[in-house]
Amino acid sequence: MNTPSRRRILSTALALGLVGCGRQQSEEQVVGTVPPTGSSVADGKQALERLLAGNARFVAAQEQDLDEGIARRIAVSKGQHPFATILGCVDSRVPIELVFDQGLGDLVVVRSAGGALDQSVIGSLEFGVAELHTPLLLVLGHQRCGALDATIKALDKPTAHPGKLGYLVDTLAPAVRQTSGKPGDRLTNAVHANVTHVLAELRRSPVITPLEQSGKLQLAGAYYELDTGKVTVES
Ligand SMILES: [Zn+2]
Repeated sequence: MNTPSRRRILSTALALGLVGCGRQQSEEQVVGTVPPTGSSVADGKQALERLLAGNARFVAAQEQDLDEGIARRIAVSKGQHPFATILGCVDSRVPIELVFDQGLGDLVVVRSAGGALDQSVIGSLEFGVAELHTPLLLVLGHQRCGALDATIKALDKPTAHPGKLGYLVDTLAPAVRQTSGKPGDRLTNAVHANVTHVLAELRRSPVITPLEQSGKLQLAGAYYELDTGKVTVES
């Protein structure tokens, strides 16, 4: 069962105008009631541990307050110190902050269908690790990914795709081709292969690789299971 925390109670009280009791509540007083965000992790390993702890709460349906109340909003309004940059799919069932039980100011999230890379996606991830200094870059694939399933079908039966859908298929195709003829479920294999492929591509970035080599950044791949809500780190 969730229990209302001091933070949530304070947020509610602020919204109702109950805090202050005749004197103005300073922003510092309000901010002082919320926990720090990314500055509380020392390295990528701790960032990953924090994500997995949040996912365990999500799996158990014991989420803490999402740090999205008034106090948190004020606390992060002057600056941000997110602790992880995450590339995920656009799938509506895999909202990144929710599955890791994180709130305002905690994560830099980039999403594209199947986690497909293009210049904007790579640049946004580079922004997260180089400008916002997150010590962790996580690539998250997920069970029954529709984008990769569509790519499998497109490769099996080539058809013309309107708009930019063909670009997505072309971008995701290399990982799908890698799994051709492999034992096991073809789509699941493709999701895992795509995470590996994306990580390899990101390691070609002249921004990301030096950070990893210097020990300031950890790269990791993970898999989200729709059936259970559980995230498993793969690499
Ligand atoms: Zn997907």
